[in-house]
Order: sequence, then C-alpha cells, then structure tokens
Amino acid sequence: MFGDTACLTVNLDAIIANWRKVAAQAPKAECAAVVKADAYGLGAAEVAPALWRAGCRRFFVAHAEEALALRRHLADATIHALHGVPADAEAEYVQQRIVPVLSTPEQVSRWVAAARRHGAPLDAALQVDTGINRLGLQPREFDALLANSDPLGAFRLQFIMSHLACADEPDHPLNAEQASRFAAARARLPGLSGSFANSAGCFLGPAFAHDILRPGIALYGGNPIDPRATALHAAAQMQPVVELAGKILQIRDIDSAGCVGYGASYRVEKPSRIATVAVGYADGFLRALSNRGQAVITSADRSYQVPIAGRVSMDMITLDISALPADACKPGDAAVLLGGGIDLDAQAAAGGTISYELLTGLGPRYARRYLGGAA
Ligand SMILES: *Cc1c(COP(=O)(O)O)cnc(C)c1O
Repeated sequence: MFGDTACLTVNLDAIIANWRKVAAQAPKAECAAVVKADAYGLGAAEVAPALWRAGCRRFFVAHAEEALALRRHLADATIHALHGVPADAEAEYVQQRIVPVLSTPEQVSRWVAAARRHGAPLDAALQVDTGINRLGLQPREFDALLANSDPLGAFRLQFIMSHLACADEPDHPLNAEQASRFAAARARLPGLSGSFANSAGCFLGPAFAHDILRPGIALYGGNPIDPRATALHAAAQMQPVVELAGKILQIRDIDSAGCVGYGASYRVEKPSRIATVAVGYADGFLRALSNRGQAVITSADRSYQVPIAGRVSMDMITLDISALPADACKPGDAAVLLGGGIDLDAQAAAGGTISYELLTGLGPRYARRYLGGAA
C-alpha cells in the first residue's frame, strides 16, 4: 500500500458489542443483523461471519444479489432478502436456501408456484405495511391472502414482519399506531413469530420487541435515537465502529490574509496554517461538509479538534490547524475524520445527512483494516 492512501478501520469487536447491547434490550427475542448494502458499507464478507461467530444466526439483506453473495460467507445462517424474490431467481433461492420476505401478492404467487415445482413447502417471511407505505402487503391484500388458505399452505412461514417509519422519534404518534396495527395483523396468524423493530425500535420497549429484532445502524455505531429524545438517546449510545484516517499531504503557512480551496470560500485575515488531507468527496466524504465538518489530529501528548476549512474537493480536504503548536503535525501524519473523537452522527449531521448515508457512501478507495471479530 502506498503512503498516501487513507485508511478505514472497522472494529468487528465493537460491532459484536453493539449487537449484544441491542440484543439485551429484549432478552427473550432473537437478535438478527441487517447487513444490506455491504453491511452499511463496512464489508458484509467480514462483518457477517464475525457476527455469526458471536452467535447471530439470522441475517437480512435487501437484494437477491446480496443474499446470494452472503451465502458464500455464511454456509448455515438463515438469510432473508427484504426485497423478496425477483422473477427467475426462484430456483436459485431454493438451491441456496434464501428465505424471501414476501411483500406483494405477485411475489406470494410466484413463491407458491416455486413451492409447487419444488414439490414441498418453502420457507418464507411475510411483510405487512402498517403505515410506512413503502413495502409490504396492504390491509386489503393481507385480507385477501388470509381468505384463501391455499397460498399459505405452500409455505413454511417463519414470521410476519413490518417496518417502523418513525422509530428514531420515540414520541411520534405513528409508532403506537403501527404497533397496534402490527399486533392486530399478528393476531390473525396465531402462533406465528413476529419481527418489527429496527435499531431504534429495539429501544422503544416491549410493545416493539416481538420475536426477532432487525438492527442495522446500531451495530455499525450509529445512535438510532433522535438526540432530542435525550434519555433514550443516552441509553442507545453505541460503541464507535469506524475510524477513518487520511494522510496529511502538505502543510502550508498563509503569511497574512488569503483564502483556501475552490470558490475561495474560506478566508483568513491573519497568519494561518492549512493542512491538506488526502480524502475527498470521491471517497464519500461529503462535499456538504465544506466549512462544516471536523477532524482530529493527535500529537504525542494530546488530540486537537480542527475545522474543515474551505470546500471538500474530489480527492482532498483542507484543515485549519492554526491553533495547533507548530510541531503538532507534519506531512505523512494522520488526520482522523470519523471515530477517534469525531462522532459519526455529529459529522453526518454537520453534512446535512444521517450516519446511514455517510457510512454507505464511503466507497472503495480506502485501505481497509479489520480489528477483532474472533470467536
Ligand atoms: C434497513 C432496515 C432495517 C434496519 O434499520 P436500522 O434503522 O438500520 O436499524 C430493518 N428492517 C428493514 C425492513 C430495513 O429495511
């Protein structure tokens, strides 16, 4: 690896600790793991086997391709595709034991047809929409399905699920409405397990826990609860998982007044020092963090938080290090952009987005390092 490459370090032990913390919110439930979008950008091939070794037995991805790719890393886990089963993928799902989450009457019919061809019931999960209006059977479609016992007889249904729209806002009235609609849907399939809670939902109490938890972002170090809900936000603090460090390419002194970067958007009026770091928006480091984001530079004895000065460009950012002692850093040293004192949620918020988007955008240019994750 050449010297200028930025490094993304993923702490698998922290992911496992976060998974255990979420699981502890509902000890009677099974805690699954959502590893869609390559485990939120952190690498499903590393993250999922580490969680398996820690005891996780059920994994959710979005796409068929993700499900089939994950099977190569998890021989025995239960793998669910949240987007269901695409036309023509049925045979491969059966062969690879992918359990689709069926969300439309059309998917139900095709999986019934696949079971007929297979000559035996197939595993399936069923999603009902309780108010997010995104995926899942609508109430009249669920009624129609229940009125005709034929399709359900073709399945070994593992659980019924639904997805919360506002779980990060604990006081949002839609949470209670969705919880009561989901309880009503479950009552119509007595004895069948239920899955309802994403990361935030896992912290909302027993009415949201049900039987199978589906945390994603909390595993990867994002706090799932809105900071304005202070008590729950504090309870849902997760261990940081990601450290993103960029190399300082150059340090320059500005003698008196001047400006930094494209658009001359950062002006200094007195002598200043600027460090240029080899991470930019092509690395998923949001351009919206221009003049807003923070970094940390650690020198032998202490850490300094410094502002991003000027625009984030494709391959670089510039930091105003004027407040640091002259010998605090030099070219080749690291500037930390996530983790190590830079809170993931705070950095995302400074860029006008959420931890999910920041993590999933981090991209392929980093040298990646994985820590821990043993049995
Ligand atoms: C992405 C997703 C999750 C995980 O959500 P987090 O907020 O990351 O915990 C759970 N369930 C469904 C259906 C999802 O799409």
